[in-house]
Amino acid sequence: MSEHDLIVVGAGPAGAHLAKEAAQRGLDVLLLERLARDRVGDKVCGEGIALHHLKNAGIPYPKGKELGNTINSIDIYPPSMERYVTVSQRVEGEPCDGWTIDRIYFGQRLLGYAEKAGAIIQDHAHVLEPIFDNDTVTGVKYKDTTTKTMKKAHAKVTVDASGMSATLRRKMKNPLIEQTIALRDQAVCYREILELQEPFEPADRCWIIMDDRYSPGGYIWIFPRGGNIANVGLGTQGGHGYQPKELYKQFLTSNPIFKDAKVIHGGGGAAPIRRPLWSYVADGIVFIGDSGCHVNPIHGGGIGSSIEAGHVLAPIIKSAIETNDVSLASLWQFNVEYNRKHYGQKIASLDLMRHLLQEVGNEEFDFVIKNRILTTEDLLRANAGKGIELSALDKAGRMLRGLRKLGLLRRIQNVSKAMREMLSLYQNFPEAPDTFEPWKQRVVQIYNNLGYQT
Ligand SMILES: Cc1cc2nc3c(=O)[nH]c(=O)nc-3n(C[C@H](O)[C@H](O)[C@H](O)COP(=O)(O)OP(=O)(O)OC[C@H]3O[C@@H](n4cnc5c(N)ncnc54)[C@H](O)[C@@H]3O)c2cc1C
Repeated sequence: MSEHDLIVVGAGPAGAHLAKEAAQRGLDVLLLERLARDRVGDKVCGEGIALHHLKNAGIPYPKGKELGNTINSIDIYPPSMERYVTVSQRVEGEPCDGWTIDRIYFGQRLLGYAEKAGAIIQDHAHVLEPIFDNDTVTGVKYKDTTTKTMKKAHAKVTVDASGMSATLRRKMKNPLIEQTIALRDQAVCYREILELQEPFEPADRCWIIMDDRYSPGGYIWIFPRGGNIANVGLGTQGGHGYQPKELYKQFLTSNPIFKDAKVIHGGGGAAPIRRPLWSYVADGIVFIGDSGCHVNPIHGGGIGSSIEAGHVLAPIIKSAIETNDVSLASLWQFNVEYNRKHYGQKIASLDLMRHLLQEVGNEEFDFVIKNRILTTEDLLRANAGKGIELSALDKAGRMLRGLRKLGLLRRIQNVSKAMREMLSLYQNFPEAPDTFEPWKQRVVQIYNNLGYQT
């Protein structure tokens, strides 16, 4: 007998927004969070969010203490810093591309919405494992860290929104669900909030620097948070033993703008940067946010896509409960929706580009930016998951400029073609689990052809 309709594990952006949307639809929702309530949102993060995510999910835009800066573009620099490519993703009629935020205030706001909608919030609840009835998840075991007692809670549907810890996913027995994420598919990061001697200018632009001396397999970010405050960090590819904090310190000393900067907060963290999970659902359970690998594999941003996952999932859970069918086949609709129409297709396509970027060294990256082989339009197309398509006229010029690196140009073209194929495969994600296996083999084939590991 279920005590609740829905248990959500983790009150980060994915869990809190799902809890709100499900409660608003009349579901009885229990939101379990291991942190104290007033620490929800406290996460090491770059704290950048694009406007379109909040717009899509119907969340009011940040203001007051939560708002860092209004952001109008992201400038991507190669190691030489001689030239940069600007990426702007303006939604028509909107005033800016996005913002930098204070994640605690943002997290507290999302939690407040969930509570107001009627979700029951249980903090100090450290979830340990799923409860199974045969193969169906029917609830969770958790430790109440205030009373130090073990507890159980049951629901018709359980959602793992516990972030990178993926507490429930790690304990799954269904072979369709990947329990762990390979280290090579993780960004391992270090970040500080700095008070600089001078304000970071221009204040409405986020900087990304691709430089594998300091951020091998990842990038350095400088995100202005208003006045003299900046959120500065870097990510490296996991599995190689890189020391992100050490590399970060080296980067800081290499750049005079950080001289005598005061550290307000520092810390490490990790994010999944890879293709989506093969399936976000199993019997009685769904995985969203970082637990579902709903993160953009190029820039590691996952706040917006996690929120959107909750937005897409809530009506699907409601309908599964109404029809009294919470099986994998019924919840599969979330795989279909998120992959075909939402972020899944983009993540899948961008993962191929992530592999490409991790192959490209400093010299090559400088070359493509300096010689305008890669332009703003290319990056925008690529960011939409559509690959890089050089128009015929343009192509001739770029080919001439790129002659010295013909092999690299061919590689870019091959990966771009594969990105478009991947996008199309995900736009045709199988309607039901029984046609999944042949579809999966086609995805694996694309990776194999490029020599990448799934
Ligand atoms: C260094 C770094 C920088 C980043 N910068 C950006 C950025 O600028 N922009 C962006 O969009 N994204 C960024 N990301 C990614 C972003 O932080 C995540 O994608 C996003 O927070 C995912 O949301 P979530 O709700 O899935 O997980 P989380 O935000 O991690 O929330 C998970 C919640 O679950 C709780 N929890 C975990 N385990 C348990 C358990 N066993 N029991 C109960 N509760 C549990 C946690 O306490 C937490 O509250 C960055 C990530 C890192 C590591």
